[in-house]
Amino acid sequence: MDAKQFLAVTAAMVVLGCTPSRKTSFGSFDEYPVYQGKWDEMNYRPSATDFSLWAPTAQEVRVMLYEDGQGGSPKEMIQMELKADGMWTATVKGDLKGSFYTFNVKVDGVWLGDTPGVMAKAVGVNGNRAAITCMEETNPEGWLQDQRPQLKSFSDIIIYEMHHRDFSIDTVSGIHHRGKFLALTEKGTKTYLGESTGIDHLKELGVTHVHLLPSFDYSSVDETRLSEPQYNWGYDPKNYNVPEGSYATDPYNPSVRIKEFKQMVMALHQAGIRVIMDVVYNHTAVTEGGNFERTVPGYFYRQDKNGKFANASACGNETASERAMVRKYIVESVCYWAKEYHIDGFRFDLMGIHDIKTMNEIRSALDKIDSSIFMYGEGWAAAAPQLPANELAMKNQTGLMPRVAAFSDEFRDSLRGPFGNDRQGAFLIGLPGYEAGVKFGLVGGVEHPQLQKDSIHRVPKIWASAPSQMISYASCHDDLCLADRLKVTAPWASPQERMAMYKLAQTAVLTSQGVPFIFAGDEVMRDKKGVHNSYNSPDKVNAIDWRNKTTCKEVFNYMKGLIAMRKQHPAFRLGDAELIRKHLEFLEVPAGGVVAFRINGKPAGETWKDVTVVLNARKEPVKIEVPEGRYQVVCADGKIQQDAPLGVMQGGQLIVSPRSALIVHQ
Ligand code: CA
Repeated sequence: MDAKQFLAVTAAMVVLGCTPSRKTSFGSFDEYPVYQGKWDEMNYRPSATDFSLWAPTAQEVRVMLYEDGQGGSPKEMIQMELKADGMWTATVKGDLKGSFYTFNVKVDGVWLGDTPGVMAKAVGVNGNRAAITCMEETNPEGWLQDQRPQLKSFSDIIIYEMHHRDFSIDTVSGIHHRGKFLALTEKGTKTYLGESTGIDHLKELGVTHVHLLPSFDYSSVDETRLSEPQYNWGYDPKNYNVPEGSYATDPYNPSVRIKEFKQMVMALHQAGIRVIMDVVYNHTAVTEGGNFERTVPGYFYRQDKNGKFANASACGNETASERAMVRKYIVESVCYWAKEYHIDGFRFDLMGIHDIKTMNEIRSALDKIDSSIFMYGEGWAAAAPQLPANELAMKNQTGLMPRVAAFSDEFRDSLRGPFGNDRQGAFLIGLPGYEAGVKFGLVGGVEHPQLQKDSIHRVPKIWASAPSQMISYASCHDDLCLADRLKVTAPWASPQERMAMYKLAQTAVLTSQGVPFIFAGDEVMRDKKGVHNSYNSPDKVNAIDWRNKTTCKEVFNYMKGLIAMRKQHPAFRLGDAELIRKHLEFLEVPAGGVVAFRINGKPAGETWKDVTVVLNARKEPVKIEVPEGRYQVVCADGKIQQDAPLGVMQGGQLIVSPRSALIVHQ
């Protein structure tokens, strides 16, 4: 065929609605074309809307337009055309704002079924259809002036991990939009006992960041039945780039959830609080019939040796972050939340399923937006992922992921006992043998000469290169929360004794050089009625009972005091491994169940000299030898007061009451 004939044939094919022959099957996932541009699936203009879908194995792709977010037949069906790099496109003239759309992809002769695509930015109820919206119109008043609160260093962060329903569903909260994004915009809310709740409570406590449990569109809660109470943590992703509908006042109107999410972020920012999203890119709720499988079958997930979907998440699948377009997907999605919603941090669920290169690419992409955006994750997986161990973003490879942090289960378990056995206690209940793990957490998981020297107790493997790479915590949404755990592990203890252990735990977390992390409600000794995995338990298990703010005021004041002290005193957040090795010295203790350290001298910016912290989990008082001096007591006997010291200890000995922390300085 000469050139003229070829052109004639191609022109005829275009006229007939065909496109020239193209490759839709590939030898391996590495051969799939990589689209280089910005990955958008819908671009609205008043005069026309552009649709695109990356579906390199498709033989045909259609986009369907609908009047509504659910029900009814398509009002229009448009055939898409394959452009470069596996991207199919179509442009529909006219103003389509307010319409909904789905794609349908044909692979190997089979139509895979309706999907809103993988990149939908707005959806109808339950996220089954994507929506055509104008994003600028979702901005609340003042949004363009919204600014991230100042953050000088990751070491200054204090995280508060909350679920929207836990935080505000209790009627005692006095909050109008209970369980919604808007709950975090209400000022001046109080319990009937007069204690502040909501955003005022967060300000009073003094945390710097809220970490929102999954707030992207997840699948378990039916958004058409919101009059019935339904609860889920939300680790079952459906549409990664859209806020969850059940937290919006109207899940049917696509703009409402977007606008209310932004209102929430803006209100928190105005209160001086940054916002972290819990992101769950490691798996999706549905595999077969889910958005990924209906778009590019097989590509987004790893397969095992038998070609079946692998399952390192224990939720039915694991995504394949190492594949070029999956990596690009995760990077673009994270950046989208950072830019469009002004999100200040990301917590990666089962980060150990992702590969190191992806985490580093996210870090560098976020740095281009704002280097103060924080990243951390669970440096583990539920089962071994289908990728060589040395490529995985596991905790022990944190050194290969600068400025990405991971949770320290070593510190957590040394304090309260292991994940696998709720009934096993540890340091907090006075058991000896856990001191090395507590010390590991106190130094922020970095190398320390005195940690190496401990020959009696097993020292956890060091994995952090900077203290801000370690999340310090004693409890989170997973497993028993601290109040429940202490009830189970110390059933013999009186409520007063358990409160003392509780305060000891919080002192360890908030004097650790790692980044402290508090489970919402821990500041008022919330419980979960003894339920370990409460992911879908009803509100009566998961809701914070705000009457606790009155009955456990002592704990609240103590934690508030610890937070204020940490924020005021750089000794507790040196932020650098070398400085920790230089200043932090563990002291000799007379018995097991006690850990003591001193921050020698005055680190830069510190007004206190020789800050000394003793954690005494024993049921007896202990004496600690210290250099002769005059020590101001800021924390003792379960009380903390930094401005007007509680007393003075003169001489070369510190006496520490049973089950309590002592904090002094010269
Ligand atoms: Ca949903």
